[in-house]
Amino acid sequence: MSWEAVIGLEVHVQLKTAEKLFCPDSTVFGADPNSNVCPVCLGLPGALPVLNQQAVELAVRTALALECRVHRTSVFARKNYFYPDLPKGYQISQFERPLATGGLFSAPHPEGGRVEVRIRRIHMEEDAGKSVHDRLPHATAVDLNRTGTPLVEIVTEPDLRSPEGARAFLQGLKHHLEYLEVSDCNMEEGSLRVDANVSLRRSGTEALGTKTELKNLNTFSGVEKALVLEIERQRAELDDGRAVEHQTLLWDGARGEIRPMRTKEESHDYRYFPDPDLPPLIVEESEVEAIRGQLPEFPQARRLRFQEEFGLPEYDAGVLTATRGLADYFERAAAAVGDGKLASNWVMGPVLQELNQRGLDPKEFPLDPVVLAELVELVQSEVISHRVGRKVLVSVLETGKSPAAIVEEEGLAQVKDEDALEEWVSQVLDSHPDEVQRLQEGEDRLLGFFVGQVMRVSEGKADPKEVSRRLRDAVS
Ligand code: ADP
Ligand code: MG
Repeated sequence: MSWEAVIGLEVHVQLKTAEKLFCPDSTVFGADPNSNVCPVCLGLPGALPVLNQQAVELAVRTALALECRVHRTSVFARKNYFYPDLPKGYQISQFERPLATGGLFSAPHPEGGRVEVRIRRIHMEEDAGKSVHDRLPHATAVDLNRTGTPLVEIVTEPDLRSPEGARAFLQGLKHHLEYLEVSDCNMEEGSLRVDANVSLRRSGTEALGTKTELKNLNTFSGVEKALVLEIERQRAELDDGRAVEHQTLLWDGARGEIRPMRTKEESHDYRYFPDPDLPPLIVEESEVEAIRGQLPEFPQARRLRFQEEFGLPEYDAGVLTATRGLADYFERAAAAVGDGKLASNWVMGPVLQELNQRGLDPKEFPLDPVVLAELVELVQSEVISHRVGRKVLVSVLETGKSPAAIVEEEGLAQVKDEDALEEWVSQVLDSHPDEVQRLQEGEDRLLGFFVGQVMRVSEGKADPKEVSRRLRDAVS
């Protein structure tokens, strides 16, 4: 009989706030160790937490983006444990009464279709500090800058059935949350972290088997590989008639292996209790509705709309909705150009290339879509060639001048002047006698080569259609 894998994920996402969850220290990444700390996040006696409202807003936004129900009342609790990176001796989290429950999220599966996963709960909590093992010889250092950083924990139902599905879900989730601007979801900087729970059961049965929890999964491929190994391990145990032990395992990405860390603690081990320093968090329905009202169109819906409204292929629509900034830019360009497919060619080609080269966000791209449309018009009406158009785009970015002014000043307009064209064509034909002969003998594809040569000697100013006509005449 075969086994079926059952997987549920716990995803920690750092909310994009400038300040910590209960104090105004900066959340900036990479600051000097222990430079962004204060009595509140250090847990000094008498210091009192004050909840960051921006974090609440982003958490609600996350919950709504995952179709959860946001509860009017949620409660911050203390999760008590000892660890060197936790000076307070407890983490403030939500336990019995989380911010939101009962959501749903789906992501495209690489093999087609979608993986659909129910969201069990989303709660707010603060991050702990960091133990640093590679800074001091023979010692572990502690950096408390992360302490108190606002997180949401997104807990799924055990709805995933394969390591690839888990990875696809995470990729989709990351894209969704980045797009909604609730988090940077940067795994290297720790702003997105995943624990994976997995168990096996006999195919066709319902009851869940004993699960193990995988931690330290610092890349999506790590999640997938660790799950593959752990499923194999559990299968071997069960096939040999042994039971799977309820435990936590660590993924070692460098060695590509998993190691047992500890037998799993139970939630009662943490002695959760409501934090006496924090009142219950009340989020009124009107506030939830206000935040819902500000949600952008979700990327998945926008992608489908781009396909329908502008007649774009699925691939193009996917590229253009990769970030909200790019999708906004494209949409303004499409309106200005008046042709979605044409606008998409320019945005996916030259614009994206310049954005990447300059490491710019589309929001700060200095080429206004209206100016892009002016440039596209110059190319469409054959005042300049496509190739010159790309050059003009770069000049516009560098000088801030209008495309028409650049074409004028640099004399870039296509030359239709008979004499000049004649001169270029004969110059090229004269310098390639062998190719001319082959063309005359019927090797038609050489025409493209000749057009290219003429464009080169004319520095892109010749009108390629006219050049092509003249070349044909000349060799026939
Ligand atoms: P714990 O108390 O160990 O943290 P929870 O019930 O809170 O366990 O669930 C944590 C995560 O583990 C959730 O994402 C849930 O979907 C998943 N999960 C729970 N039971 C199983 C199981 N038997 N197999 C796989 N995943 C599971
Ligand atoms: Mg749990």
